[in-house]
Amino acid sequence: MIFSPPLCEKVLDGTKTVTRRLTKGEPCTYRVGQDYAVQEQREGNAGRGGPELGRILIVSATQEEYVFSEIYTHFDIEAMSEGLSDFDEFVGCWHSLHPDGRCEDKDTYDEPYEQHPCLNEPVYRIEFELVGSDE
Ligand SMILES: [Zn+2]
Repeated sequence: MIFSPPLCEKVLDGTKTVTRRLTKGEPCTYRVGQDYAVQEQREGNAGRGGPELGRILIVSATQEEYVFSEIYTHFDIEAMSEGLSDFDEFVGCWHSLHPDGRCEDKDTYDEPYEQHPCLNEPVYRIEFELVGSDE
């Protein structure tokens, strides 16, 4: 599984245990109970990762209608599972990872999350645990 460099670091130190991936109408390719290589995304080469830096085991994978479903009543805590300090940081991070998303104004973090088109996308919420790291 490929992560941006700052988030990859958090996966490898165990602080990030959840990731959200746009479904793009496709079935989830990550299987619960299987382990996958952790790779850092290489600049200017979206979709291709570097060497294996560690391994994660998929604990759960659920589809959600929105990036942050109402079942996560405390968005900040869920954002922390994503390795970020709070929900605002999550939104900023989401914008940087999905620059072609549907938000025209990337700085409208103050808007209620329902008004962020970029968050109204179906995602897979994938929870994992670190099972091996070279660090
Ligand atoms: Zn947005």
